[in-house]
Amino acid sequence: MQIINRLDLLKSELESVRDSGASLGLVPTMGALHAGHMALVTAAKARSDKVALSIFVNPKQFGENEDLDAYPRQLQADADLCRDAGVDLIWAPTPTEMYPAGFSTSISVSGVSEGLCGGNRPGHFDGVALVVAKLFNQVQPSHAFFGEKDYQQLAVIRRMAIDLDFPLEVVGVPTVRDEDGLALSSRNAYLSPEERAKAVALPDNMKLAIKKMQAGENIALVLKEASDAIVKAGFKSVDYIELRNAQTLEKMEKYDSPARLIAAAHIGPARLIDNMAA
Ligand code: AMP
Repeated sequence: MQIINRLDLLKSELESVRDSGASLGLVPTMGALHAGHMALVTAAKARSDKVALSIFVNPKQFGENEDLDAYPRQLQADADLCRDAGVDLIWAPTPTEMYPAGFSTSISVSGVSEGLCGGNRPGHFDGVALVVAKLFNQVQPSHAFFGEKDYQQLAVIRRMAIDLDFPLEVVGVPTVRDEDGLALSSRNAYLSPEERAKAVALPDNMKLAIKKMQAGENIALVLKEASDAIVKAGFKSVDYIELRNAQTLEKMEKYDSPARLIAAAHIGPARLIDNMAA
């Protein structure tokens, strides 16, 4: 398995993959890999002959007061996991390789990027769209794999891939959770053992809210109760907890299928997100 951090070296490596006629799957990540990321690798291996995994903590998707500097970076451990999982190539560019001096382009996907995390993190999805578009052009995969864990991100990328005619298939992979139900996230590493124990209140209350909404209870009331219960259980605040159409991400005033319950909340130093089919 090669670890490549220069674009010219990536290009020549990928030429030989293409010459061999192999299909190539891309798994974009920010590193600090866990079993959630590895589920994307498993899906990629099932769908493509060769798998490239990118590791890049993308400064353009972090707001000014967010955790760019604190974000965990552990390339060696990540490389070991990737080697064991049969990844063929790690693409780990430096920030200046990705955004050289003079870089001036932006990408903005309207509609699905508005509200939810787009409301709380202005510019976040512009940064995501930009880096993913660059990764698509750099790697030119036949398939690209993204987690449903970042449900709005997946919707933004699907939209962008259609709108900009990227010749590839975007594949969504279900969320991998810890035994107690908390979605795996690199940011769970920020939590103390006490905070980690309390964090399960997020998925627990989401599940409860889904049951109530499916039983016909008033959506606004159920979501308010869930938000209050999450804070009562030890979260500092809830950025949002909303029922959306699972495909368009439009707000739902009354329950209908297919729906998705999507939430973000702060506990200790971490902002956790989650979503579930509802
Ligand atoms: P990140 O490194 O957090 O940017 O995540 C890289 C990719 O892994 C994204 O497509 C995420 O949606 C996906 N991912 C992160 N956590 C999980 C999880 N628990 N289950 C499935 N996919 C995940």
